[in-house]
Amino acid sequence: MALPHPICSRSLPQSCDSFTVGNAWTLLTRPDAPTEILETTHGLRSNASLNNRVGAQPSHSDTKVTQMTSQPPTINAEVVQVADNAYAYVQDDGSWFINNTGFVIGPDGVILIDTSSTEARTRAFLDAVAEITDAPIHAVVNTHHHGDHTHGNYLTAPAPIISHRLCKDIVEKAGIDHYPTAFEQPNWGNLELRAPTITFKTRMDLWAGDTIVELHTMGDVAHTTNDVVAWLPTEGVLYTGDLVFHGGTPFVLMGSVQGSIDALDVLRGFGAETVVPGHGKVTGPQVFDDIERYLSMILDVATAAHSAGKTPLDAARGVELGDFASLTDSERLVGNLYRAMAEIDGPEANANMSIAAAIGDMITFHGGPLLPCSA
Ligand SMILES: [Zn+2]
Repeated sequence: MALPHPICSRSLPQSCDSFTVGNAWTLLTRPDAPTEILETTHGLRSNASLNNRVGAQPSHSDTKVTQMTSQPPTINAEVVQVADNAYAYVQDDGSWFINNTGFVIGPDGVILIDTSSTEARTRAFLDAVAEITDAPIHAVVNTHHHGDHTHGNYLTAPAPIISHRLCKDIVEKAGIDHYPTAFEQPNWGNLELRAPTITFKTRMDLWAGDTIVELHTMGDVAHTTNDVVAWLPTEGVLYTGDLVFHGGTPFVLMGSVQGSIDALDVLRGFGAETVVPGHGKVTGPQVFDDIERYLSMILDVATAAHSAGKTPLDAARGVELGDFASLTDSERLVGNLYRAMAEIDGPEANANMSIAAAIGDMITFHGGPLLPCSA
């Protein structure tokens, strides 16, 4: 079936029947059941020596923090142990293009969750992983197509990159985008395009030894059209990608406001004890309430502005952010209002909304000439 517009449509394709990728992974998908990896030449099996290398075996709430600093450029990040063999790699300060990643260590292979925006940041992430385990990278999950989560894919070759089907489509279509008209330019490094190599549309399970890493799509547009979360049910750890910003302003310009609110209910349904957001510090499920409160405010402002005939930029200028003012990248308010007001206008307006115009007004709101980027 035809794929929806990568940004504007809220319809998602149906689950596929079956497909095989490469010679390493054989995947079968049934419409009524999770996708499972039935066989792999890279089997992730138990290995006591690696488990010893991983070190302490804390409870879910007993996180272990290792400070990581490398220069140049200045990269401040910490590895946070969120379960026996699961980690978050948290980059400070979580603003534009400074994302979080994660990794789950199996007996003879590591599953990475996302890469980073610049060559230096992804190399620093991979170095941090290598300080904890010498096991090879067996798979990489992309939580969505945005460059801060996918630009570094090429540094993980030949490990397979796993994503939502639409993520692969968009990454291939968009290529490596440096966003020169939108953002101050960081040192991107020598980025090379590497799109996902294994895709799914509803569910997939990965295994790191005895640890199951469940991959779930949201079933509808939320932060993007192609959001994926990684859920470790035994450990109670949920890697959310950019469905969750912690300490940063939520950003749904390329997704849906209502879809993002709906996705929060899906996230709550996992019953996570530990939430690894796409940006910001590791947190707990209370963060879902904070995001819903912000997005509800967006809907309220958009509804009033729409009735008053205001533009998203004018509406944003009248917003009293209150305790949301402490969130980073507050200019996302404008982009979020663009999306909310387009959704009020209906499917056609929503589909035809100009992302470029929205970003232009975000720059104006910020004070220009470009949006800040410290990546
Ligand atoms: Zn994103």
